[in-house]
Amino acid sequence: MTRPAIAIMLVAILFFGTLIGIFYVQKTLAEIEEALPITLSKQERDIRVLVNDMGRLVQSIAFTRSNQGLIGFESVIRQTQEVEQGLKRIREIYHFSDLLGISAIHAKLNPAIFDIKTWLMAGVYNFQPNSPQTLELVNTRAQQAYEEAEILLLQVGETTIDVLTEQAQRIKEFRTIMILTLVVLAMMTIGMLVLGIRLQRMVQALKESEEHIRYRANYDSLTGLPNRPNFVEHLSEAIFRGQRNPGLTALLYIDLDRFKTINDTLGHDYGDELIKQVASRIHQTIRETDLVARLGGDEFTVLLTNMNDAIRASIIAKAILGRLSEPYSVYGHEIYSSASIGITVCPNDGEDANTLLKNADMAMYAAKDQGRNTFRFFTSQMTDRAQRFLELDKDMRRALREEEFYLCFQPILDLQNQSIIGIEALLRWQHPVKGLIGPDEFIPVAEETGLIVDIGLWVLRRSCAEAISWPLQDMHPEFYLSVNISMRQFKGGFGKAVLSEILAETDYPAKHLVLEITESLLIDDDARTREALDDFRQMGVGLAVDDFGTGYSALSYLRKFPVNILKIDRSFIHDIAENMGDRRLVEAIIAMAHGLDLVVVAEGVETSEQESLLRDLRCDMVQGYFYSKPIEANEIKQLIKRSI
Ligand code: C2E
Ligand code: CA
Ligand code: CA
Repeated sequence: MTRPAIAIMLVAILFFGTLIGIFYVQKTLAEIEEALPITLSKQERDIRVLVNDMGRLVQSIAFTRSNQGLIGFESVIRQTQEVEQGLKRIREIYHFSDLLGISAIHAKLNPAIFDIKTWLMAGVYNFQPNSPQTLELVNTRAQQAYEEAEILLLQVGETTIDVLTEQAQRIKEFRTIMILTLVVLAMMTIGMLVLGIRLQRMVQALKESEEHIRYRANYDSLTGLPNRPNFVEHLSEAIFRGQRNPGLTALLYIDLDRFKTINDTLGHDYGDELIKQVASRIHQTIRETDLVARLGGDEFTVLLTNMNDAIRASIIAKAILGRLSEPYSVYGHEIYSSASIGITVCPNDGEDANTLLKNADMAMYAAKDQGRNTFRFFTSQMTDRAQRFLELDKDMRRALREEEFYLCFQPILDLQNQSIIGIEALLRWQHPVKGLIGPDEFIPVAEETGLIVDIGLWVLRRSCAEAISWPLQDMHPEFYLSVNISMRQFKGGFGKAVLSEILAETDYPAKHLVLEITESLLIDDDARTREALDDFRQMGVGLAVDDFGTGYSALSYLRKFPVNILKIDRSFIHDIAENMGDRRLVEAIIAMAHGLDLVVVAEGVETSEQESLLRDLRCDMVQGYFYSKPIEANEIKQLIKRSI
C-alpha cells in the first residue's frame, strides 16, 4: 500500500474510532450516573414512602371496618387517592430507569389501588360502597397488596448493593477501556506525526531532486555554465528580442586548440581542471549581460547582445583569445593553450539558432585553418573589416607611443569683422606605411576600443601647449581654442580633475578654452556627464554643440545644459545657396539659438555666396575652406600674426 493510502486509512480509523469512543463514553457515563448511590438512595426512599403510605392506608381501612364512624369513610378515599398520586409521580419520575424494581412495586400496587378506589366509590358485586362486605373485600385487597409490596421493599435493599457492586465493576472496566483508548489515540497521533514528518521530508527530497534534475538538464556539471540546450534557448530568445531592437546579436564559437593532446598526455583530471579555468577566464572577459556556455568537451559559446557594430564581437574575441593564451597553472604544472573562435552575426548571417550555431562552427574551423589562436567571422568581408579594425587599433597604440599623431588648426571667424575668434584643433595621423589618415577613419575605431580616452587627453594637452604660445593678449578678447571631446571620454572618467590638471600643466587659461561635444552626449543625459559639464562651466570653460542638426531634433535639452555655442553641421551649409529648405532650416536654427542666448558657428563655409547668405541670416561666426583649411601649427601661428 502506498504511503498516502496508509495515511488516509489511519485518518479514517481515527475518525470512526473517535465516534465510537464518544458514543461509548456517553452511554457508560449515563449509566454510572444513574447508579450513583445518591440516585439509588433517592429511589429507595421514594419506594419506601410509597410502601409506608400503603401501610397507613391498610391501617385506616382496618380501622374504618372495625370501628365504624371513628375514621371517616371520606378520609379513606382521600388516602387512597394520595397513594394513587404517589404511584403516578413515581412512574413519571422513573419513567425510563428502573434499577431497583419500581415497576414491580408499581405493578403490584397500581391494580390494587385501582380496585380499592373503585370499590370504595362504586361498591363491589351488589354491595354498597360503605357496606361491611365491601370494606371487608377492600381490606383483604389492600392487605394483600401491602404484604407483597413489603416483600419487594426488602428486596430493594439487596438490589441496591448488587447494582452498586455491578457499577463499581463497570467503572473499573470503563477506566481500563478509556486508558487503552487514550493510549491507542496517543500512539496513532504519534504515528500520524511521524508519518507527516516523513511525508514532508519526502516532498522536500522530491523537490530537491527535481531541482537537481533541472540543473543537470540545463547546466554543465564541470564548469557550472549553461549547457547546449540551455544556450540554444537563450540564443533563440535573443534572436526574438533582436527582431524588435535595432542592436545586433553575435555568437562566438570557441574551441581550444590541441586540447586532445593535453588530455591524452596529462590525463583527464588535468583536462577537466584546464576546462574549468578556461570557463572562468571567458566569463571574466565578457560583460555581465553577455552569456557564456559550454557546449561540451572543449567547446564554448558566447552570446553577445545589443551591439551597435559587429566589430565589438571581434574586440571581445580578441580579448578572449588573449586571456586564453596566457599560461595556466594546473596542479602545479604550467600549461600553455590557445583557442580558435568563429563568429557569426544575427540578423546579417542568419535568423535562427541552428543556422547561427552552424555558421559559427564553420567560422571556427576557418579560424583553425588559419593556424589557430585567431578568430574568423562567418563572412570574409566581416573578417577583413575586423582585421583592418584591429590592425588599426594596434597601429594607433603604437602611434600614440611613437608620436605619429599631430594636430592641425582651423580658424573660426567673427562674421562681422572677419577676425579670428576661435581656432579648432583637429587631429591627424601620419601613418608610416599608409600615409596620412583622417580622423573620420580612425576616431570611430578608437571610440570602439576605448583608446580615444588616451588619444583625447593627448589632443587636449598638445593643443593647449601649442595655443599657449599664441599672442593671446593681442587677439580677439573672447578668443578660444576649440577642442573636440568624444562622448566615450566621459565614460572613461574625463572630468574636472583631468582637465584642471592639463590646464595647470600647460598653463593655459580656462576662459580661452571651448570643448566641442556632440548632441548625443546631451541626449544621453548621464548624471556623471552632466556633473562634468557643470564643473567645466564653473571653471570658465566654454561648451559648443558640434555637428548640430545631424543627431536629434529635440531642442529642449539645450536649455538644460550649460552650452554657449552651437555649431551648425556643414551638411546644412553645403547647399544653402541652392536649397531653400536648408536655408529655412539654418534660419530657424539661428533664430532658436539666439532665443536661447547661444552663439552660432556655421561649419564648412566654402563660398562667398554661402557667406553672404549666412550674414543675411545673422549668423555669428563662420568656419570653412573659404577662410582656411585646417593647417599645421607653424602655419596657424603665421596666420594669427598676419591677422593682428
Ligand atoms: P568636426 O569636429 O565637425 O570637424 C570639422 C571637420 O570638417 C574637419 O574634418 C575639417 O577638416 C572639416 N572641414 C572644415 N571646413 C570645411 C569645409 O569648408 N568643407 C569641408 N568639406 N570640410 C571642412 P576632419 O579634420 O577630417 O575631422 C573630422 C572629424 O573628426 C571632426 O569633425 C571631429 O568630429 C573628429 N575629430 C577630429 N579631431 C578630433 C579630436 O581631436 N578628437 C575627437 N574626439 N574628434 C576629432
Ligand atoms: Ca568639431
Ligand atoms: Ca562639426
